[in-house]
Amino acid sequence: MEYRKLGKTGLMVSEIGFGGEWLERHDEAEAVDCVKYAHEQGINIIDCWMPDPKSRDIIGKAMEDCRDSWYVQGHIGSTYQNGQYVRTRDLKYVRPAFEDLLERFHSDHVDLGMIHYIDSMDDWDAAMNGDYIRYVHELHESGKIRHIGLSTHNPRIGKMAVETGFIEMILFSINPAFDMRPATDDLDSMFEGYDKGDFSGIDPERAEFYRSCEEHEVGITVMKGFFGGRLFNKEQSPFGVEFTPAQLIHYSLTRPGVASILCGYDTKEQVDAAVAYGSASEEEKDYASVIASAPLHSYSGQCTYCGHCKPCPVDIDIAMVNKFYDLASAQKDIPESVKEHYKALEHTAAECIGCKGCESRCPFDVKVADRMKKTAELFGC
Ligand code: SF4
Ligand code: SF4
Repeated sequence: MEYRKLGKTGLMVSEIGFGGEWLERHDEAEAVDCVKYAHEQGINIIDCWMPDPKSRDIIGKAMEDCRDSWYVQGHIGSTYQNGQYVRTRDLKYVRPAFEDLLERFHSDHVDLGMIHYIDSMDDWDAAMNGDYIRYVHELHESGKIRHIGLSTHNPRIGKMAVETGFIEMILFSINPAFDMRPATDDLDSMFEGYDKGDFSGIDPERAEFYRSCEEHEVGITVMKGFFGGRLFNKEQSPFGVEFTPAQLIHYSLTRPGVASILCGYDTKEQVDAAVAYGSASEEEKDYASVIASAPLHSYSGQCTYCGHCKPCPVDIDIAMVNKFYDLASAQKDIPESVKEHYKALEHTAAECIGCKGCESRCPFDVKVADRMKKTAELFGC
């Protein structure tokens, strides 16, 4: 298992994580076993947005002997009322629901205290002004949450969260289909009435959100990486082609700022399938060819950072250079941190000999040699 730094939290999280929402549908002992098994495979981050006692108890029991070797995302504002999940900012419900989480986890803290699920501006305003956000800061100051995070499906909200300066990481929904859709405050309507042929590459607001996370060192953990399984099936996939788990995991893990993808598991075999990503070949991880061969897409000319264009005769990490180019060219002044990271590359764009071997391998027709020239001009090397 590989581990990545979760932005400025500094936590080293496993690139494959655990999304807990399917635990509730299993027998308790079996579900506890599945979480323990995942931990034995090196998974060390788990999300618990679920307010129901059963899911929380399962996670609590699975972590009983090893709480300190897990990083937990615990949500503030996910409550359980009359046997139902209710998202609220009302402290009358929020406070006891969060205390219940700690109690069931047999822990005095969660590592990542998540401002739960904000997708709309109205909800953002309600959450960020008043008792709710004061409570979040209170939890942080008292050490009951070690870092403040936020969960959203809306890149516009994500970008605002980055700009607060105090939100250190974001749980965000990422997959190739979502990335092509414009920001919305209603996830359920994201694909309503879309024209199947009207996919025109990564939505600019999403690209901007990823750039902003990378620039401000706000780490991302990923939810909905498989689009609820729809991308495994060509009939349901908006691209008209199917993907494998390794390809979708690779897609998420090659987005700027992403540290971990939290997959949902029903069985140990599914854990094994996700963890196998670590030993998958480049061909097995190759989502780019799948997208490029899809009847319903238009990613042309956009770098997806897939790395399909390797190898470069002068060993330039082309995907990484393209990422820095996008990051730098999107703003008037290049931030110092971006310059530093770029200059730390072993080989920079100035070394490009313009052979265009990469261009013949790029499934998205990216004009790499030209971008290399522009990158070298931007960074001066
Ligand atoms: S240039 Fe093309 S092949 Fe290379 S990383 Fe970008 S999209 Fe992938
Ligand atoms: S064009 Fe430049 S970046 Fe592409 S393979 Fe040749 S040397 Fe490497």
